[in-house]
Amino acid sequence: MNETTPRLPIQAVFFDAIGTLLTPNPAPADVYTEVGRRHGSELARAEIAQRFRQAFRAEEEKDFEAGWKVDAEREYLRWSNIVASVFQGTGAAGLANAIFLELWEHFAQPEAWRVDPDACAVLAEFSKHGNLLGIASNFDGRLHRLLDAMPELNLISKRILSAEVGWRKPDRRFFDAVIRAAECPPDRLMFIGDDPVNDYRPALEAGLRPILLAMESGRDVAEGRRVHKLRELLDFGSGRQGFD
Ligand SMILES: [Mg+2]
Repeated sequence: MNETTPRLPIQAVFFDAIGTLLTPNPAPADVYTEVGRRHGSELARAEIAQRFRQAFRAEEEKDFEAGWKVDAEREYLRWSNIVASVFQGTGAAGLANAIFLELWEHFAQPEAWRVDPDACAVLAEFSKHGNLLGIASNFDGRLHRLLDAMPELNLISKRILSAEVGWRKPDRRFFDAVIRAAECPPDRLMFIGDDPVNDYRPALEAGLRPILLAMESGRDVAEGRRVHKLRELLDFGSGRQGFD
């Protein structure tokens, strides 16, 4: 980037959902522990947290092996498998399906999530500058229900969900769907997410203008392309902060 080739202003801003605009609250480990306990599980929270991480990673691996192809059925199976893995070998194993159904419903409720307190102001700022706003998520169809119930996020007009696209992040075909929805050239599309592997890197490779939301410095992320908190994006929206 040099002075003779100024970047055109952004036209659209797309956000990852989970970990970027929304966070589960209370934490999943707490919810799993409590629901499990109600069904007879005696697993400690720390054990559940560890099993959850492991099971989650195993499902990510399956998606990778499937070439990142996903659909609604796969999303349902993902969470069913994770819950079954977490409660495997415990007294509650036979009840894993009942636990799963209860957890599935829990995370479909808007009350189970916390919207970033600055999300509304950040969206309003981008919107004020004429940017189209979208959400681009690997979360399943339950996200529609959540978004419908969250007035703080109602400036978001485009929803790109991997299970509906057929391909999940980090696959290029998911980002192609984002570009189509944004109705602008990729280099005028800002993409904000908290995951270097599923958000930042593939967005960069697809020619978008990615921002990583992260507390810590990422080794591969230029300083000007990282924010610690969503509210720092207010500077990008107003154009006060440069972006190359
Ligand atoms: Mg995320």
